[in-house]
Amino acid sequence: MYAQVIVDIAHSQVDKIFEYSCPDDAAIGSRVKVPFGSRIVDGFIIGLSGTTSLPAERIKPIKETFDELPALVPECVSLMERITERYRVPKAAALRLFLPSEMRLGKVREARVRYVRFVKEIPLTASAVKQREVLAFLKENIESPLSVLSEKFGRGAVEGLVKKGAADIFSKRRTRSPFSDMKERAGEKIPTAAQAAAIESAEKSDKRVQLLHGVTGSGKTEIYMQLIARQIALGKSAIFLVPEISLTPQMLSQLRSRFKGEAAILHSGLSAGERFDEWWRLRSGEARIAVGARSAVFAPLENIGIIIIDEEHDGSYVSESAPRYSTADIAKWRAEYNDCKLILGSATPSVESYLKAEEGEYNLITLKDRINKKPLPEIIIADMRKEVKRGNASSFSLALREELAETLEEGNQAIVFLNRRGYSQTVICRDCGYVAKCGNCDVTLTYHSEDGCLKCHYCGAKYRMLDACPECGGRHILYNGTGTQRVVADLKKLFPSARILRMDNDTVSGKDGHYRILKSFAAKEADILVGTQMIAKGHDFPSVTLVGILDADMSLHFADYRSGERTFQLITQVSGRSGRADAKGKVVLQTYCPENYILRYAVNYDYSGFFENEAAVRRATGFPPYSLICRVMVTSQDDGEALETLRRVYSSLEALRAEKPQEFIFLNRMHSPIKKIQGRYRYQALMRLKSEELLAKIYDIAVECSSDDALVYVEENPANLS
Ligand code: ADP
Ligand code: ZN
Repeated sequence: MYAQVIVDIAHSQVDKIFEYSCPDDAAIGSRVKVPFGSRIVDGFIIGLSGTTSLPAERIKPIKETFDELPALVPECVSLMERITERYRVPKAAALRLFLPSEMRLGKVREARVRYVRFVKEIPLTASAVKQREVLAFLKENIESPLSVLSEKFGRGAVEGLVKKGAADIFSKRRTRSPFSDMKERAGEKIPTAAQAAAIESAEKSDKRVQLLHGVTGSGKTEIYMQLIARQIALGKSAIFLVPEISLTPQMLSQLRSRFKGEAAILHSGLSAGERFDEWWRLRSGEARIAVGARSAVFAPLENIGIIIIDEEHDGSYVSESAPRYSTADIAKWRAEYNDCKLILGSATPSVESYLKAEEGEYNLITLKDRINKKPLPEIIIADMRKEVKRGNASSFSLALREELAETLEEGNQAIVFLNRRGYSQTVICRDCGYVAKCGNCDVTLTYHSEDGCLKCHYCGAKYRMLDACPECGGRHILYNGTGTQRVVADLKKLFPSARILRMDNDTVSGKDGHYRILKSFAAKEADILVGTQMIAKGHDFPSVTLVGILDADMSLHFADYRSGERTFQLITQVSGRSGRADAKGKVVLQTYCPENYILRYAVNYDYSGFFENEAAVRRATGFPPYSLICRVMVTSQDDGEALETLRRVYSSLEALRAEKPQEFIFLNRMHSPIKKIQGRYRYQALMRLKSEELLAKIYDIAVECSSDDALVYVEENPANLS
């Protein structure tokens, strides 16, 4: 036998398929060690054949095969081809996406699933109660994972039986858990008519992609759970994706109580060992539901019956490092390969997805009402210009203060939301105007009063506080705490007895920082939760009856064509946290521009009004989804090298434009807004294109111009243009 091998070196020079001879039982997807030049390197078998085109003396044998069960599922080979073609990354880089990094770097070993099976009936004394139970169980089930038996009956009983020869332990490559019938589906709800109709529409539709547009609290989660349960019952597997930060304790416990060991969580918050174990449970077939953020779309599952992307509009679904894939693209490919449905769910679908639904590419499923027709919370607009005129210079409008007081009095909870992380982030010398900046990155530093230091939000560098200005020696340095901190301080003054929790990037650290905060708030250990974007999504806190949005319009002013869409999404999502259970919810939305049309649509929960308007604007101005924004980034440690590379990139782009001028709406080159990050100088060529027609050629240019000294890469509709 001959194996086609990709060596695990992500470099364009070795981005080829190499042939080796291999044993007859070699399997596609296996990780292997192969001789490569004078070295031994890791690789993957992606194909097998009985013949080879190479002369016999040039064929070398595979040195070693790693795992008995191939690490990669067969589908990976076809996905790898699509990924390399679409995003122009080396084959090895595409394959790496499918493996937990722990595995590649050899930090953890293959964990085989250990099973116990029935051997023979033996006489047992009356006192060996547990052993008799295990034996009875095994007789009925024939075999069972050791972990399951140990949990049910105790490890000692199992080992006792094995010692007596009534059962034995073996390890298994791959099998389905015998508990997959899931008799105990805890927490299952009877679907409402609207939910049942949505489930039926999704299952019956002849379209691959289903866009589930349901207002906040319309019971989308239950729909996902039911769709997953049905596929599991059919013997299939499922992928359930959620945004980076909404893997809440509630979501996890719901999944666990419902699907028990069938659900495996792929999450960056897990330790390396835990992550590997969860991954392996999926690969071995012990678990069949992969739950996680973006990267869980690469879960090692076969026979997939459904893929769900919750909060599909969320920015975290686009990878910001190479390959810069869109999670929805990968999910679509996997859905095609497995011939299953892809569900995109959101209360505020992206303009791009909704347009596809309107044009008939996606099946649109709409849930207009909350569960049991509960009203959506009333949104009260507080015009902050009037507050200032009235002499109220604080962060809280009168309306918000009154509503907060009432909420606290009634024993309910409130969420106070800030649209950005810091108010006055900068540290300024009042004498000369010097602003503290990061030495590695061309950005201003932020003062963090908790650890009393200055931080760079781009590279994480910490700096000591200044007692004197480094420029003029002046001693009038102005520090301002971050926004959330100040809000908490102000709230404490207004409501001295209220218990307040704060959640933002600064308070959330470590493995489960935000779980702790959310759990504590859910357990009503606090009355008010103050936070940023992080608290906007997904959470279901039944006691929250008030949401205050302090600066609703802030994100309208960002220099991004999507700022209107983002603002609409944010207001809708945050408002959706209020009044989810029996008590009626309210929202106080503070703004300096109450007449803005985005806010008007948001206040009236008018998604289609928003969509029609936004789509018309985008079409008229030639912005996505009616065009493609493409940025070719050039970075290098050497400023001159970066600039020189940008020149080459740009002249190739100009040649492309000369060929197809009608495709270009805009093309220019410039310094990136942040000129340097982590010691690398940054330049860019920015363009707007009529369609994706030239995209492949632009990727080609990036690959051609990239060198060891300068990195060149393409970003499509980047979320962040810094
Ligand atoms: P969404 O994800 O659409 O915002 P959720 O799935 O969180 O909404 O559901 C909102 C609330 O309604 C939750 O508290 C959930 O437990 C409840 N719920 C969902 N479906 C049902 C149902 N069929 N019967 C009763 N309550 C339900
Ligand atoms: Zn920095």
